[in-house]
Amino acid sequence: MPSAVPASRPSLTGTARTDVLVVGAGLAGLHLATLLARRGHEVLLVDRRTTLAGAIRTTGIFVRKTLEDFPLPEEHLGPPIRRMLLYPPGMRRPVDLVSDRDEFRVGDMAGLYQASAEAAVRAGVRLALGTRYGGRRDGVCHLSGREGPLQVRARHVVGADGARSSVARDLGLDRNRHLLIGAEEVFPVSPNGEPPAFHCVLDPRFAPGYLAWVVNDGQHAHVGVAGYADRFPDGMRRAMQRFVARAPGLDGVRRTGPVERRGGPIPVGGVLRRIGCAEGLLVGDAAGAVSPLTAGGLDPCLRLSELAAEVLDDALRTGTPHALTHYSGAALRSRFRGRLALRTGLAHIRTPAATTAAFTLLRTPPGRAAARRILFGDGSFPGQPAPRPSLASG
Ligand SMILES: Cc1cc2nc3c(=O)[nH]c(=O)nc-3n(C[C@H](O)[C@H](O)[C@H](O)COP(=O)(O)OP(=O)(O)OC[C@H]3O[C@@H](n4cnc5c(N)ncnc54)[C@H](O)[C@@H]3O)c2cc1C
Repeated sequence: MPSAVPASRPSLTGTARTDVLVVGAGLAGLHLATLLARRGHEVLLVDRRTTLAGAIRTTGIFVRKTLEDFPLPEEHLGPPIRRMLLYPPGMRRPVDLVSDRDEFRVGDMAGLYQASAEAAVRAGVRLALGTRYGGRRDGVCHLSGREGPLQVRARHVVGADGARSSVARDLGLDRNRHLLIGAEEVFPVSPNGEPPAFHCVLDPRFAPGYLAWVVNDGQHAHVGVAGYADRFPDGMRRAMQRFVARAPGLDGVRRTGPVERRGGPIPVGGVLRRIGCAEGLLVGDAAGAVSPLTAGGLDPCLRLSELAAEVLDDALRTGTPHALTHYSGAALRSRFRGRLALRTGLAHIRTPAATTAAFTLLRTPPGRAAARRILFGDGSFPGQPAPRPSLASG
């Protein structure tokens, strides 16, 4: 699909200077770059992807708190989902939870990325797609772009380059060590009269240490598995094939179009401690800003980018780069203690029998109440208060 992003293809050859170089135009990088440009700073945002509509890695489920706090463009959001079903191994007798509020919506991620990129360019961000960050030596960042190699001198560098961040390595910051791996297939569906639903299967044979899912909102079905890479009994690809063949929530659904495949690593070790130094900082997956329990990273990446924008704005305006050293994951991390403990518990459930036993607890009134609190609760990533302008507005 051709990119609809307005051409902000700065002539990038030789040497360039900028206030901030943001590496990675996922949601974290796009949001941070836009916030900084709106505050009058020079921002160069680069991504190795040649179009933001391609190589998507996420299902794109946005939770209610994000939808309330961040005015995402309505036209790029699927129908609201209120029903969630949790299946034990064997997939019989799911725990059926229905909320009286709209809990989830699946984003049309290609559209959302492109709308956010358009907003970034309108705000003044120089966006260079098809441009790979290759490393940083002696304060100079080395990029290779459509027009050849480029050297960038930036007052600060931001690693928004995902779970396996090269910028984190080059800045000597912490790196994600505790990762799940996930994959999914997405296909268009025709509505079958069923209300939109989110089906989660807990079975270590399909999803060791995490879960397998079907999200069917009547427009698209996302069918996926995720877990610890070394614990899939016969590899993730086979687990995916086995799951697709018997996944719940697809009865009577006729697949009407081509299948899109997505996937990637998911950091679940909690926010990293050292995510900022005088030279730059990390946001999004690069900073480990993902809920260790639900593996949701879209809300955390938006909120942490808000915080990062405040800190960078302060450092740039006051000319005190050391302000960035106060951008620390340690305080945020302590707020995740409970979720980290639950993640450790989930990682230890290794057999179908143990998972089935856990469902006995889940079926009790306190078990259901706890599940509702986690899945439909008001908790979100601790960070900045709600932002104002729409992600896609100018
Ligand atoms: C299969 C799967 C499903 C998921 N589903 C959900 C979900 O439904 N809801 C949810 O909340 N979270 C979900 N997550 C997690 C969520 O997608 C991430 O936490 C979130 O997208 C992170 O955004 P980001 O901007 O930090 O990173 P990314 O979106 O990964 O963006 C990083 C960008 O950096 C670019 N990049 C990397 N290296 C370089 C380089 N050297 N040079 C230039 N560019 C570079 C990449 O091309 C990419 O565009 C899912 C994750 C996976 C893997």
